[in-house]
Amino acid sequence: MDIDIERFAKLGIRRVQDLVLHLPLRYEDLTRITPIGDLVAGVAAQVEGEIVRVEVRQRPRRILSVELADATGRIGLRFFHFYGSQARQLVPGKRLRVAGEPRESLFGFEMVHPPYRLAHEGMALPDRLTPVYPSAAGIGQAALRRAIARALVRTELVETLPPAALGRLRLPGFAEALRFLHAPPPDVDAGALADRSHPAWRRIILDELLAQQVSLRRARAARSAHEAAALRDGGLAARLRESLPFGLTAAQERAWAQIREDLARPTPMNRLLQGDVGSGKTVVAALAAAQAIGSDHQAAFMAPTEILAEQHARKLRPAFEAIGVRVELLTGSLRERERRELREAVARGEVDLLVGTHALIEDGVEFPSLGLVVVDEQHRFGVAQRLRLAGKAGDRLPHQLMMSATPIPRTLAMTYYADLEVTVIDELPPGRTPVVTRLLPESRREELVERVAAAAREGRQVYWVCPLIDDAADPDVQAGDGGDAGPSRAGARAPGRRQREALELQTAIETHRQLSEALAPLRVGLVHGRLPPAEKQAVMDGFARGEIAVLVATTVIEVGVDVPNASLMVIEHAERFGLAQLHQLRGRVGRGSTRSACVLMYRSPLTPAARSRLRIMQESNDGFEIARHDLMLRGPGEILGARQSGVPLLRYADLERDADLVEVARDLAGSVGTGSATADALLDRWYGGREDFLRA
Ligand code: ADP
Ligand code: MG
Repeated sequence: MDIDIERFAKLGIRRVQDLVLHLPLRYEDLTRITPIGDLVAGVAAQVEGEIVRVEVRQRPRRILSVELADATGRIGLRFFHFYGSQARQLVPGKRLRVAGEPRESLFGFEMVHPPYRLAHEGMALPDRLTPVYPSAAGIGQAALRRAIARALVRTELVETLPPAALGRLRLPGFAEALRFLHAPPPDVDAGALADRSHPAWRRIILDELLAQQVSLRRARAARSAHEAAALRDGGLAARLRESLPFGLTAAQERAWAQIREDLARPTPMNRLLQGDVGSGKTVVAALAAAQAIGSDHQAAFMAPTEILAEQHARKLRPAFEAIGVRVELLTGSLRERERRELREAVARGEVDLLVGTHALIEDGVEFPSLGLVVVDEQHRFGVAQRLRLAGKAGDRLPHQLMMSATPIPRTLAMTYYADLEVTVIDELPPGRTPVVTRLLPESRREELVERVAAAAREGRQVYWVCPLIDDAADPDVQAGDGGDAGPSRAGARAPGRRQREALELQTAIETHRQLSEALAPLRVGLVHGRLPPAEKQAVMDGFARGEIAVLVATTVIEVGVDVPNASLMVIEHAERFGLAQLHQLRGRVGRGSTRSACVLMYRSPLTPAARSRLRIMQESNDGFEIARHDLMLRGPGEILGARQSGVPLLRYADLERDADLVEVARDLAGSVGTGSATADALLDRWYGGREDFLRA
């Protein structure tokens, strides 16, 4: 058997059907012979000629040199790795057909290690371009081509689009498109193949997008086949609402009305509440929790970081306890015994509202009557975590409310997020002032310290953020969002993680010392991920109460922390952060009525990507605008967090480039349905063969 199953599996090829969807990266034109005299340096070509000279040298390097001639000229072929048998085959007088890229050498043109074949006068030429496939170590192009050509004959290529749609879209059928892409004619528009705008490519891409839409519809149908508790008793929510020190904005009002309606239904809500940083999503979520609890169910509230979970618990507890609701906090830093006791209390139904980090899903907490799960800062959790959560409560699913300050670009909303209903809070509470953003090179640090000291003496509160890059333990970085010094990008030259971490913590401690000195007798606080929760809490409380003037922090404060009096933020090494992270951080200020500012301090030289991120931050305060740039700079995969979540990304489709096809696919998915043979064929074709093995 000439097919190596393991090697093919590395390419994602496990079934014969996967072979036909293994599409070429590019092509070689072997349909013509170019006279040697017409070769152009750097332009790939195929030549044919007679061997006129062969030389094997051992020094300075083992090399086999062959000189090939046709009626128009001569070219040298060089082989550095060769077998004796090969050398014996290549003897003067033999004809060779050779394809490669000629380069200029001292002795005229030469090709290094070109693929060649023994030829004879009048030997046939292929009439199609020759595909070059993505490959893995150990599988040659020839083996791939053979396997794929065979598979194309043997596989049934089911048509998944109605003929009318193909006609309207001017696209070829599936089988035709595949055969074309594996072996296009030489006169094809090469540019259209390369940028995948050729109708054959678009047909395949549409097929992939359609499969995605169908699978999303299936997931949605499966969910709505589940039951959920109808949470109809609004008494407690009304009481919570009356106790608020402010009225809801019109946008919050709309969101709450929509969510209340969802909760009252006996099918699980799956809603995303989207609103810019500071738009007041938490209050709406708290009302939803009160509705669940008032209807005799429990609610869970998940946040991406411990400090944020702690803050939520701290803010929610008094409000809820005032209306007789028990709120508890479960985080990874609880002692084993406390954690066990808390789990037991939850299991006995004594805890109404459980706040926590993702420890909530990983810990296997059993809720006897979980009615609602709130996921704050949803974009910080991967898609897989979201789905895992959805699958938790057996037959009956809890209602789910996701919250995010990162707007989902339209194409993503139609694809990966298509299983969510979306509510947007498009208005900030009254009295906010826009944040002015300044860029400052690190060389002007001293000056900045003075300015911060002066501001603090005037009674302003200041955040000073130092990045702490730690890929293992710090959830802030795990959800990584595209800074230059992200964990995987630190590179081999960087110091080890421990060392780097220590170094950066040192920076935070040093900054703390420097500011403490400059600001005395005002207090400067320091929080970082290694601090015991109680100390962290004490510092945060001190800052919230205004006793601490400047808070030096690693990115633990990134999301959701709320101290309205803080009006100045300094971000060190701003070049290391991604756009979404910077926007989140900056959102910590500008929450009160004082004019707020954010200073992005950077170290030169900036990479072009870092420079453009900082520019965008300086120019825009609008989360939607920033997210749009983010998508352009990073691509959808990283925004989704799908790389670490294992949800398959699209293989051939590109949500930006193929946005029009996303819409077509969405429309077509309606007529394909979820239970049809066509739906089965699509899902099998694009997602099916993951467990199966290639049967050759
Ligand atoms: P985010 O949407 O970023 O999670 P929060 O829910 O943390 O925003 O709210 C930001 C701040 O705005 C909080 O201090 C909150 O108490 C306050 N807030 C929320 N809604 C209103 C409102 N309608 N009027 C005034 N302040 C509000
Ligand atoms: Mg929030």
